[in-house]
Amino acid sequence: MKTKLEQYSKEDHGIFQKDIDSDVFLISDTLIGNGYQAFVVGGCIRDILLGKEPKDFDIATDASPSEICKLFSHAKIIGRRFKIVHVYVNEKKYFEVSTFRSDIKNKTSQKKFKKTQGMIKRDNVFGTISQDAFRRDFTINSLYLDLDSGILHDYVNGVNDIKEKKLRSIKKPSVSYQEDPVRMLRALRFESKLDLKLTSDCKESIIKMSHLINNVSPYRLFDEILKIMHSGNGEVGYKELKKTNLFKYLFPYTYKILKNNKIYDEFFTLALRNTDLRVNKGMHVNPSFIYAVFLWPYFLQLDEIESQGIDEAFKKTIESQNKYIAIPDFFQSTIFTIWSLQSSFLNLSKRNIQYLTSFSKFRAAYDFFHIRSLIDKDLRKFSDEWHEIQKDVKSKKTIRGKNRYGSRRNK
Ligand code: ATP
Ligand code: MG
Repeated sequence: MKTKLEQYSKEDHGIFQKDIDSDVFLISDTLIGNGYQAFVVGGCIRDILLGKEPKDFDIATDASPSEICKLFSHAKIIGRRFKIVHVYVNEKKYFEVSTFRSDIKNKTSQKKFKKTQGMIKRDNVFGTISQDAFRRDFTINSLYLDLDSGILHDYVNGVNDIKEKKLRSIKKPSVSYQEDPVRMLRALRFESKLDLKLTSDCKESIIKMSHLINNVSPYRLFDEILKIMHSGNGEVGYKELKKTNLFKYLFPYTYKILKNNKIYDEFFTLALRNTDLRVNKGMHVNPSFIYAVFLWPYFLQLDEIESQGIDEAFKKTIESQNKYIAIPDFFQSTIFTIWSLQSSFLNLSKRNIQYLTSFSKFRAAYDFFHIRSLIDKDLRKFSDEWHEIQKDVKSKKTIRGKNRYGSRRNK
C-alpha cells in the first residue's frame, strides 16, 4: 500500500462549503478553536466525490472522547467495541465524532487492542491521523477534509480510486476480513450501491473467507444485511451474497432449501426488485419485510411439510435463524403478522376483506402475497382481486420502529 500523503486543494477536489452541513462547521470550529485537529471523513467525502448526496457527516479528531464531551454541552459517549461521541446540535440532530485510532500493536496497547483469532474485539487505541487512515476499511472511505484550510488529505490513494471507480481494501484483503468479517458485507454494499468495481483480490478473498461471517455478532449482522437490502440495489447485493457464498453462511436453512428449489431464487429476486423500486422512489421500507421473504421457505417447510403448526413453525424459524442473524422482537412480530395473514388472502368474502384490511400491517402482507403470486399462478386471481381492493385502503402506517432502524440523517 502506497503511503505517501497526497494533499488536494479546494480547486483540485471540488468540495465546497455548500456541500457540507453548516452544523459540521460549528463542531469543527469548536474543536480547532480549542487546539485540536478536526476533519470530515468517511462515507460523506466519498459520496460527494462520487457526485452523490451524503447521508450523514462524520468527524474525526485527535481529542479523546472525554475531551470531546467537555467541549460540547450535549454530547454522549456511545459504543463499547468502538467508543465514539454523539454531539447533538439540537434534540434530534447529532453528528458522530470519533477519535483517531491506531491498529499498530505495541506492548502498552496490546491489552486494549484485543484480538480473538485475528478478529478485533475492541478497538480503542488512539493514534494519529495517518494511523487512523490506515485502520479504515477501503481507500475511498479514508479521505480527510480539513474544513479550516479546505485541504483534502489522502494517505491511501483514495482520490485516484474514486476517479477510477475502484473499491480497494487498504490492508491485504485476507488480513482485513480476518480482523473484521463485516468488511466483506461492506464491500458488497459499496460495490452495488455506488457502482464501483471491487478489486479481484478483494473479491476472491471474500469467497475464500466467507465462513468467517459466522464469527460476527448476530445483532450486528441484522443491520448490515438490511443496509445491503435497502441500498437501492439490493437485487445485485443479493446476487453477490450468493456468488461469494456469504448467503449460505448467513441464511443456512434457507440456503439448503434454495439449492433444490430454484423458484425461491425468483421469489427473492422479485421481492428485492420491488424493494429497490420503493427505496429509489424514497418510499418507506419495513425492515421486517425482507427477512419475512428470506425466511419464508424455511417457515413453509416447517409449517406445511412438517405440519408443525403456524406458531411452532414461526418460533422454530426465528430461533434457528437468530443464531446467525438476530431479529429484534419488534420486527419478529411483524414477520409473524405477514406470514399468518397469507392464507386469509385466499378468502374474498366481505367479512374477510373487512378483517384483513383492518390490520396495520395489511399493506406489507398484501405486498408479500402479491410477490408470491408472481411465482405461483394459483394465487394470481386472488392477487388481482386484492389489487383492486387495496387501492381503496388507506395505508395505516405505524410510526413505531420507523426511526429505530432508519438511516441516521443529520443533514
Ligand atoms: P454509509 O454510507 O453506509 O454511512 P460509511 O462508509 O460512512 O457508509 P459508516 O459505518 O458510517 O460507513 O462508517 C464511517 C467510516 O468509518 C467509514 O467510511 C470507514 O472509514 C470507517 N469504518 C466503518 N466501518 C468500518 C469497519 N468495519 N472497518 C474499518 N473501518 C470502518
Ligand atoms: Mg456514514
